Amino acid sequence: MESRNYAKLIEASKSAHEKWRLVPAPQRGEIIRNFGNEIRNQKVELAKTITEEARKIVTEAEGEVQEAIDMCDFATGLSRQLYGLTMPSERPDHRLQEIWQPLGIVGCITAFNFPMAVFAWNFCLAAVCGNSIIWKPSPHSNKCADALKNIWDKVTQEHKDLVIVLKGGNEEAVAICEDKNIQLVSATGSTQMGKELAPIVAARLGRTLLELGGNNAAIICPTADLDLTVKGITFSACGTTGQRCTTLRRAFVHVDIYDQFMEKLHGYYASLKIGDPSDESSQLGPLISESSFNTMQSILESLKKKDVVVHGGQRLEVGDPKEFYVMPAIVEVSEIEEEMLNETFAPILYVKKFTDLKDAIHMQNNVRQGLSSSIFTNDFRESELFLSSEGSDCGIANVNIGTSGAEIGGAFGGEKDTGGGRESGSDAWKAYMRRVTATVNYGSELPLAQGVEFDES
Ligand code: NAD
Repeated sequence: MESRNYAKLIEASKSAHEKWRLVPAPQRGEIIRNFGNEIRNQKVELAKTITEEARKIVTEAEGEVQEAIDMCDFATGLSRQLYGLTMPSERPDHRLQEIWQPLGIVGCITAFNFPMAVFAWNFCLAAVCGNSIIWKPSPHSNKCADALKNIWDKVTQEHKDLVIVLKGGNEEAVAICEDKNIQLVSATGSTQMGKELAPIVAARLGRTLLELGGNNAAIICPTADLDLTVKGITFSACGTTGQRCTTLRRAFVHVDIYDQFMEKLHGYYASLKIGDPSDESSQLGPLISESSFNTMQSILESLKKKDVVVHGGQRLEVGDPKEFYVMPAIVEVSEIEEEMLNETFAPILYVKKFTDLKDAIHMQNNVRQGLSSSIFTNDFRESELFLSSEGSDCGIANVNIGTSGAEIGGAFGGEKDTGGGRESGSDAWKAYMRRVTATVNYGSELPLAQGVEFDES
């Protein structure tokens, strides 16, 4: 990367922010609304680009574009709701207030598997808050980045540098992290990436928002509706070919219903339609790369040497022979195996029996990652325990829903090695702003806080 070119991009981004921050927030919201409307108009074409690059099936690709549209709508509403609190002042004739201001430039590093939605989560919030954004997409998804950038440019020539796409790999991501002009680095990807990049930003005391790997689990209790459960488990474990951060990796099944559950699960897996993702009947496309396939196979090989039962996992001869289609694997274990503690970004579901719910919750939580979790039960005591402080330690805890497929209205993210960041809905916007506490004295005296006296004697 040429440093002169990089410096020019930063200058352009800075100027864009300086102009944009003066636009009243509701007017910023209006431009974001137009951006969302143009995405709506191009939904089908954009989804095709996602299918082409990320190899997602049609309905999931369209769902991802819908997520970007939803984020634009959300940001438009938010543009009139960037509320700051007013607190009662302890002094007469004083006002104590919080004012939220934009940060400046937000650096956004994204993963291959959500090539449009994760940008939309970040951009819509960053922009409505008055920031500009430098986006470093995954090298697997440059066309998706171009498509959204073109739409932004079409919607506003005046503020076109509010979105700058910096294509590249590690070098470009590191440049963003090192750059003190970038006030917030929002990075989505593997935990390894987060561990390498976060210290670079911390060394200059910059802010990070990290959305890293997951190792998600579901607990299936005796009262669960098994048909609903098996559907939820299969979508979470196999959807997007096991390549979602929220993909279900581990299932803990109560011993009393284990055989019945497994029979239904195998039946559902056997019915999966795996093939070309642009064929509307396909439910699973290929893995993103040969290296993902090799990683999946090496994990399965190592498991086969242990006391476990491995079903599926083999390469399938469907679709383009240059691509890597697989039968999702189910691995039945009697002990916690080392492989279960890490995220393998492929469709491998570990299944283990349990007898006591507290043990199942402990097994679920006893990994380094803390993104998504689910319980399937019709016993409200069990679901309330799961949602209590003794329950799931993840950022997402669902009841009678699988671990994947979050709505944009809630804050999205996870704990521990997942990075602790929150994006998307609720009050996640606050991460993209700086909080100013303002005390205004409109009286003619100067009383000091806490009753401190500083009078001339
Ligand atoms: P990845 O870590 O390989 O790459 C993500 C981004 O970081 C890319 O833009 C890449 O170029 C950059 N990058 C990677 N390693 C880097 C390094 N050492 N130095 C500088 N830049 C680096 O991830 P991926 O394979 O694209 O995506 C899959 C991973 O992302 C999974 O671990 C998944 O769980 C995670 N993910 C998390 C979330 C979330 O919200 N928590 C969402 C999507 C994906």
